[in-house]
Amino acid sequence: MTREIQAAACTSIVGKRLRGPDIEEERLVHNYVVESGLAGRLPRGIQIWDETLRDGEQTPGVTFSPEEKLRIATLLDEIGVPIMDVGIPVVSKEEARGVKLIAGQGLRATVMAAARAVRRDVDACIECDVDEVSVFIACSDLHLKHKLGMTREQVKEVAVREVEYAKVHGLAVSFVTEDTFRADLDYVVDLYNACVEAGADRAVICDTVGVMTPSAVSWYVGRLKPRLRDVPLSFHGHNDFGLAVANSLAACEAGVLVPHACVNGLGERSGNASFEELVLTLESLYRYDTGIDVSRIYEVSRLVEKLSGVPIGVHKPLVGLNAFSHESGIHADGVIKHTATYEPIQPDRIGRTRQFIFGKHTGSTVVAEKLRQHGVDATREQVLVLVQLIKDLAESKPKQEQQAFVELYREREERRRGVADKEFWMLARKAGIGVPPELGM
Ligand code: MN
Repeated sequence: MTREIQAAACTSIVGKRLRGPDIEEERLVHNYVVESGLAGRLPRGIQIWDETLRDGEQTPGVTFSPEEKLRIATLLDEIGVPIMDVGIPVVSKEEARGVKLIAGQGLRATVMAAARAVRRDVDACIECDVDEVSVFIACSDLHLKHKLGMTREQVKEVAVREVEYAKVHGLAVSFVTEDTFRADLDYVVDLYNACVEAGADRAVICDTVGVMTPSAVSWYVGRLKPRLRDVPLSFHGHNDFGLAVANSLAACEAGVLVPHACVNGLGERSGNASFEELVLTLESLYRYDTGIDVSRIYEVSRLVEKLSGVPIGVHKPLVGLNAFSHESGIHADGVIKHTATYEPIQPDRIGRTRQFIFGKHTGSTVVAEKLRQHGVDATREQVLVLVQLIKDLAESKPKQEQQAFVELYREREERRRGVADKEFWMLARKAGIGVPPELGM
């Protein structure tokens, strides 16, 4: 095996000069999201509420410094994100400093911070000079009984009290219930109406453990919305079953104006609705103008990847390594002839480039194209020989290196998460706790 062929098998070419005009103008494909009339159901004025710096930071093992939060907030503001929740000031002094730092920048976006329906939490938000506070409290009987130890009436009382308090201090208020979608609907209606009467400007409903499906969200919002006093509805979706983005879209179709999202789908457990997936689905499939500059989506994604230390999954939609990579002969041949054959959007639309990967499934078109792009002449027969050599090399390459990489990644991932076990016991000793010597050794 020559060096050149080895190189060919592990490098890629970038197809920049390929055909890819607006295919819908040519009327060669249908878009049934639009043609069905479903896209037309979306309300006007949808605003994305970014949660990267709040729920996203609650991703296990993730911490942002105030300066890192500011970098992310500034970029989100530059690309036109209209609302961002940037943290929970009561968590720590550094957290409060970060929130205050962002609130003081004069960003175009509405900068908000979160507070439990607890006086010192709300006070901490007021001290940070944010535009808006999201006051949250659990509302399912499960959370009331086993987490809060409060009755429905008590929850309503503190929620109303803290909403009123925040309003008196001049803040806009989003009232948020945790676990909305596992709670009693009549109680949810009563609780929201009480808080709206107390001055809440927005009602945020949360699929806190990601148990809804798109049709169920549609059913639920259809029942909730007519019974609520007139405030914009907001939806916070979790991705435990991989449905967060789909549920957010269903919520919007049902009349929700403010869907939540986190860059790279960060967030508690399996995360929140992914920002880039939600925005691009609205823009590209629904043909909806979100007001967000999608050409910098990849830049945002990579910044959050770097600062969070959470790698973007290889086949994560839109921003993953594979999202615009092609290996199979059939697909590469199609893309070279017209990119839309196997790409739903052009990679440069979000600041990415296309890659052709050479391997076991490579066909002759892409090999000929790479040679042509580099001004190298070859006969049809030579190209076919080269294709066979590429396939042979790809199939015979040892996999150990790749597998060792996965093992190493797993090991490091376990170790990097927050405070390690050994560190936990070291800190416990520092706190003066009588820890047995065998622990944390
Ligand atoms: Mn959440």
